[in-house]
Amino acid sequence: MIPVGIEAVAKRFGQVEALRGVSLELGAGKLTAILGPSGCGKTTLLRSIAGFVAVDGGRILFGRDDVTALPPQARGTAMVFQNYALWPHMSVFDNVAYGLRRKRLPWPDVLSKVMATLDLVEIGDAAGIAQRKPAALSGGQQQRVALARALVVEPRVLLLDEPLSNLDAKVRQRLRVEIRRLQRRIGTTMIYVTHDQEEALAIADRVVLMNAGEVVQEGAPEEIYLEPASAFAADFLGVSNRLDAVAEPGRLRVGDQVLAYSGPLTGPVLVIARSADLTLDAVPEHGAAATLKGILEESLFLGAHYRHYVRVGDAVLLVDGPAPAKPGAVEVKIPAGRLRVFPRSEHP
Ligand code: ATP
Repeated sequence: MIPVGIEAVAKRFGQVEALRGVSLELGAGKLTAILGPSGCGKTTLLRSIAGFVAVDGGRILFGRDDVTALPPQARGTAMVFQNYALWPHMSVFDNVAYGLRRKRLPWPDVLSKVMATLDLVEIGDAAGIAQRKPAALSGGQQQRVALARALVVEPRVLLLDEPLSNLDAKVRQRLRVEIRRLQRRIGTTMIYVTHDQEEALAIADRVVLMNAGEVVQEGAPEEIYLEPASAFAADFLGVSNRLDAVAEPGRLRVGDQVLAYSGPLTGPVLVIARSADLTLDAVPEHGAAATLKGILEESLFLGAHYRHYVRVGDAVLLVDGPAPAKPGAVEVKIPAGRLRVFPRSEHP
């Protein structure tokens, strides 16, 4: 188990600064998720760690080894891709055995390691799967094989690039639990790129949130979600509402309404509140400080909950709740401590 150190790593593609001096310490034996919107530089960072991208500046360290100038095959990493990237003409067994055969391991070792690893990813040899070609497997099974092929060589660092994005929702949910368990069991340092915030929060020990080639926040999943350090982080995680407001001592003005506010900001601010934190009151009460009056325009049934669309002035707030509600006048309650307020000037 080794930590991975990223020191001021920069990468430019023509006019695009894909990485702007990224520095990170990725824990030994931990699963770190790199999360961020499309184009933020996640894949470039992962590929730089793998050695597929030559960085323009900075250093990449595996433990004490500076691997910045090493070719991919000398770094001791393995990678799992979104599209599985299995060799179609080889059987499952041969796909997984490939890396061991290249290392010229004796046949009994190849056999036992391949079978043990297929077992680890819960493929086993049921129904002769090991002899099938990848095309005769489901997407979930193919990704298990890809995972086995990466793990069998006992990489120093396992890199996963959106590994579950091609799978349907149910398989994705199941496999992410299994990857989490597997990682705890074998303790390999893993770096997992995803644009799916729920996946990152569910699977990782640490989450690194990126935007426009920079790390904007890093921390435990709960910390990233509950204590977003910027409007970007607050807005990116969860289904969020953005409201323009003006902060004054003790209150926030939202259009012609007022919310209680005890923070330090004054002047134009951006208020971010997650749909899951808000509740709806069908019968308006007066006097409660952290409420906004609005008009319920629509309620959509999303399976586990309803999502209500409430017009408040020019804005439409998304509010999640357990029950349907009738269109008309409502109040939206915002619990104290779940209202995040950022200076407007920093977020044009
Ligand atoms: P996605 O989730 O869409 O894959 P990402 O966060 O992984 O996005 P990157 O693929 O790292 O983003 O790309 C970061 C930026 O660098 C983007 O603006 C992208 O267009 C650019 N970029 C990446 N690879 C190249 C390349 N080979 N040539 C030119 N520009 C590139």
